[in-house]
Amino acid sequence: MSEDGGTDRGALARIPSIERLLASDAFAPAIARYGRHRTLDTLRALLDTHRQALRNEAAQRARANDDLAPRLDADTLAAQTLERLEADAAPRLRTVFNLTGTVLHTNLGRALLPESAIRAVVEAMTRPANLEFDLASGARGDRDDLVAPLLRELTGAEAATVVNNNAAAVLLVLAALAPRKEVIVSRGELVEIGGAFRIPDIMARAGAKLHEVGTTNRTHLHDYANAIGPRTAMLMKVHASNYAIEGFTHAVELDALATLARTHNLPVAVDLGSGSFVELAQYGLPHETTVRQTVEAGADIVTFSGDKLLGGPQAGLIVGRADLIQRIKKHPLKRALRVSKLTLAALEPVLALYRHPETLTEQLTTLRLLTRAPAQMHEAAARLAPVLARWAGAEFAVAVEPMLSQIGSGALPVDVLPSAGLVVRRADGKPGGRVLLALERALRALPRPVIGRLADHALRLDLRCLEHDDEAVFVAQLAGALRSS
Ligand SMILES: *Cc1c(COP(=O)(O)O)cnc(C)c1O
Repeated sequence: MSEDGGTDRGALARIPSIERLLASDAFAPAIARYGRHRTLDTLRALLDTHRQALRNEAAQRARANDDLAPRLDADTLAAQTLERLEADAAPRLRTVFNLTGTVLHTNLGRALLPESAIRAVVEAMTRPANLEFDLASGARGDRDDLVAPLLRELTGAEAATVVNNNAAAVLLVLAALAPRKEVIVSRGELVEIGGAFRIPDIMARAGAKLHEVGTTNRTHLHDYANAIGPRTAMLMKVHASNYAIEGFTHAVELDALATLARTHNLPVAVDLGSGSFVELAQYGLPHETTVRQTVEAGADIVTFSGDKLLGGPQAGLIVGRADLIQRIKKHPLKRALRVSKLTLAALEPVLALYRHPETLTEQLTTLRLLTRAPAQMHEAAARLAPVLARWAGAEFAVAVEPMLSQIGSGALPVDVLPSAGLVVRRADGKPGGRVLLALERALRALPRPVIGRLADHALRLDLRCLEHDDEAVFVAQLAGALRSS
């Protein structure tokens, strides 16, 4: 060990002192860009790594021909320091290509905002705005008033309020309208909606008591009727979202439930989840009951997300009877769950687009992506196949194939949309294994990561969400680099 230690000192002794390094010309660019303090910290950490390396086995072997020490001159160390500083300064939130085939992908940020919403957000971020200021009277205003009139117009509801997301909306509705009281829900609707949103848990956190009725597959009106008692505060229906029970099933229609509730002077709340403003069937998409239809069928309160089918920013929208919305707005949790000006800035133009439904498939990004013709994706796939094939190398075969996209975010997985894309398999016909995993990893490691889907020994890249401008970026990125694995 004493011999090794001697060699260690030899190699380390050839590293210039930290002070000398920082004073050298080689370090000037790093110091200019990141400051002396951060450069010093980074260099220190770098030298620690080198010292460790010199002590480990690989270094011992390398030391035999003594080729490590010359590597650690000022220029080399400065380049390595700069590389570390740059990597550390790179944003953690990165733009990616969503080629998963799921349009509203929760892990990739759900709905993409239309141009008008982006402009409004930039304005709101850079200049003061009348967020809570009534321009007519000069008095304090209510931030909900920025979007409540539009929400009333588009849904037919009497009143509206907005919170941070739909989970918050459900929590707030329960806390405000059913504290320490019972809320009657069908067993078939006690769902978990990804990311640990479970109706029974939210109910408990809100301080309401869950009264389950019926069975998993069948719930009847008399189940609700029999459960109503002096402790009942509300009846509730929950959209089953990404879950379907088929076969011998029965659920109570909202209008029947609303009639029952009215005879007992109780409100009915509906958690719609996705909450669409337009009949999606007219575009060939799976039918979703709209918010207006839900209000018209007798719901007293309806909650839904801003960034699912609505195509806006993350938000939880609550619409319904004016007296109930008033109670909801007065609850202390409303202040804790309120939305920022950025959310409201983005939400208003998105809602405004729904006043001109004829332009929606063009202007509203989510609907435009959902309604793209499969031929467009086929054509893009034919253009991109040779580019991807060249990048991936001879190990892989790239094919243009039809595929099925999903809406995502609570829409039924069985409701699929015909699409097309690229399928990468091993050229030797063997199962994907590590080779395919390495390819998937290499795509994820690109400057703008490409996120696809591995299934059946193939990597699938659905091109539905690759619109024109992005296609050029996709091509430039693959053409400008060789695959590293
Ligand atoms: C998605 C969903 C939620 C949660 O909404 P977030 O906006 O993600 O908080 C709640 N209920 C239902 C039925 C949903 O589909």
